[in-house]
Amino acid sequence: MSYNVDTLRAEFPGLAGEAHGKPLVYLDSAATTQKHISVIERMDRFLRYEYGTVHRGMYARSVGSTAMYELAREQVARFFNAPSESNIVFTMGCTDAINLVAWSWGRAHLSAGDRILITGMEHHSNIVPWQLVCEFTGAELIHCPLLDDGSLDLAAFDELLDERVKLVSVIHVANSLGTINPVVDLARKAHAVGARILVDGAQSSPHMPIDVQALDCDFFTCSAHKLYGPTGIGALYGKADALQSMPPWRGGGEMIERVTLEKSTYAEPPARFEAGTPPIVEAIGFGQACAWLQEIGMDAIQAHERELFPIAEQILADIPGLHRIGTAPERSTLCSFVMDGGHASDIAAILDMEGVAVRAGHHCAQPVMDRFGIPATARISLGCYTNVADLERAGAALRKAADMLQ
Ligand code: PMP
Repeated sequence: MSYNVDTLRAEFPGLAGEAHGKPLVYLDSAATTQKHISVIERMDRFLRYEYGTVHRGMYARSVGSTAMYELAREQVARFFNAPSESNIVFTMGCTDAINLVAWSWGRAHLSAGDRILITGMEHHSNIVPWQLVCEFTGAELIHCPLLDDGSLDLAAFDELLDERVKLVSVIHVANSLGTINPVVDLARKAHAVGARILVDGAQSSPHMPIDVQALDCDFFTCSAHKLYGPTGIGALYGKADALQSMPPWRGGGEMIERVTLEKSTYAEPPARFEAGTPPIVEAIGFGQACAWLQEIGMDAIQAHERELFPIAEQILADIPGLHRIGTAPERSTLCSFVMDGGHASDIAAILDMEGVAVRAGHHCAQPVMDRFGIPATARISLGCYTNVADLERAGAALRKAADMLQ
């Protein structure tokens, strides 16, 4: 399976822009992706001609909207090979999905003496919710350290994992380093001590086929805006027994079975976790993004990015004074780096003047920056639409940056 990248690029209107009078080179897809035309058109059609509330109206427009919203859930379930659409909870995004697990599952299942095991390469969204929930429950948050190449210290992981650990919560692909974690093995190990495992799939789901049943994770989280879909929506996949064991975390309309002024009973998952009028338009856009990604094939996207990645790495290797951060043997298609003579934000500012958009900062992973003794990195990240010309433009801009800074 493969596709023509130039044909594909034409289907992303956002790529056609300019920056500082130069054609835009967009190399920040790990932060957020440009939108596929089918997503834009689907949301536009729904907003113009099909819009109505869901799960409430008895009239045709609302019944139609409800069917479209629930079709989106099916499309997301299919994309991740979930056993059923009822395993998919719509959330506001990956951060929101992790907070849901922390505040619902965590509050119900954690107490003093219990441990949550994360890693030293987590995004803040997979650290702070656990710190908050530990303060609340008395559980303890522990983390697995990293090796110098940015991979997980698996010997340390084995030592830290014992029956006190009730949850392992791990980033699948590290947004600051590119490391791909061996989540199938980690899931097996977690289950062997009776722990659940949450996989933060924000950075893996856009780049490789994901089969939540093959991963055997209890929870998997993602954001639609990194999957060529809209902002404001994401998903939590949960195994049925895990979701069943979780109380509501937000109260309101639609998550109930029966409400009296004294007491309420709650709907079954996933409705139990979707209080209030949901982001209907965004859910439908998310469903379309998943359907489009399945059509083009995650295998094809993975193959395309894997073909380009060595070119990107060689371009960076040829820049004097550039140092990569994160060179684990198993790595995804993003590169973090620093450069002699300048801060990461200087690099990004110089690249921006050349029309090249890259991220600079701590990438919401300050513990990773601390581990490597740096304040920030610059980061190039690939998407399904990245081509060789993008990488060559970035290379030329980086040479300019090296000349200016050193
Ligand atoms: N986890 C990882 C690995 C991420 O890269 C991100 C986004 N940078 C998040 C979680 C949070 O995603 P969101 O901001 O869309 O909720």
